[in-house]
Amino acid sequence: MALLEVENLHVSFQTYGGEVHAVRGVSFSLEKGETLAIVGESGSGKSVTAQSIMRLIPTPPGIIKEGEIRFDGKDLLTLSEKEMFGIRGSEIGMIFQDPMTSLNPTMTVGRQIMEGLIWHQGIDKRAARERAIEMLRLVGIPTPEKRVDQYPHEFSGGMRQRAMIAIAMACNPKILIADEPTTALDVTIQAQIMELMKELQEKTGTAIILITHDLGVVAETAHKVAVMYGGKVVEYGTVEEIFYRPRHPYTWGLLNSMPRLDMERDTELQSIPGSPPDLFKPPQGCPFADRCPHAMNICHEMMPEKTEASSSHGVYCWLEHPQAPRVDRGLRVNI
Ligand code: SF4
Ligand code: MG
Repeated sequence: MALLEVENLHVSFQTYGGEVHAVRGVSFSLEKGETLAIVGESGSGKSVTAQSIMRLIPTPPGIIKEGEIRFDGKDLLTLSEKEMFGIRGSEIGMIFQDPMTSLNPTMTVGRQIMEGLIWHQGIDKRAARERAIEMLRLVGIPTPEKRVDQYPHEFSGGMRQRAMIAIAMACNPKILIADEPTTALDVTIQAQIMELMKELQEKTGTAIILITHDLGVVAETAHKVAVMYGGKVVEYGTVEEIFYRPRHPYTWGLLNSMPRLDMERDTELQSIPGSPPDLFKPPQGCPFADRCPHAMNICHEMMPEKTEASSSHGVYCWLEHPQAPRVDRGLRVNI
């Protein structure tokens, strides 16, 4: 049985302008110890999906309309807030893009690591402090005995993200959800943080859901990938399948907009023309139809069914239909 199974998740937001259909029938599963990357442009529903797993969707205006999120034999969507509190931070940890907004500026970093330990594991202050120092050391913060008593503003950006990881990992969660964890950091620090997450995963066996728009990060860290567009998963597969045998035109577009090592210095990256669908009035057909260079009439009318290219690789595209015209899948990727 998978560690986490999300099935047919639908999430909306009620606004003055009407209902925004942010997530429209998303399904995926996560196995113990693996990293699943959820990729897509902003507004594709990645963060809303992650927040739904943590039950952090503000309701109202948010509403989880349909679906199941099975974790450890429980459907998280049916738990009470109190039961959910026991899972959040203890069995499922989360880190966000900007540590400054999620760290408490009035509390020492050590205290913030200790809180979860005291609350969830019932250990005493002294033991929690020892563990906080150990966690700071584990995430590569120098002189942790001193740092444990400092406040977030005394840390650099990269160190704050390390501290966030220490907080999220202190209780040894089974799953770590990382929502754009390195977007706010410069490139060298980004690489260090991703390396740290990989190392921690090897040591602890924690499964990771990595939300990102950066395919370079995906290639280096993920085992599986789900590509989201317009509130739906349009393709999923192993990292090799998505990078070497992608089948969805949106995935091709994403890969073509990614810099490659073998590129001439000034090669212009192709970005995908057009803009994402209006989720107030989501298209009834393929969400990518307005931007897809291969769109056919049927694409605007009906959502394609799933085609399985392998047991781990699925795609939702009318080009997979046996009677669809052949298109050039000529993609060259080098990761
Ligand atoms: Fe393009 Fe049609 Fe495939 Fe959508 S279903 S990605 S519009 S070819
Ligand atoms: Mg986001």
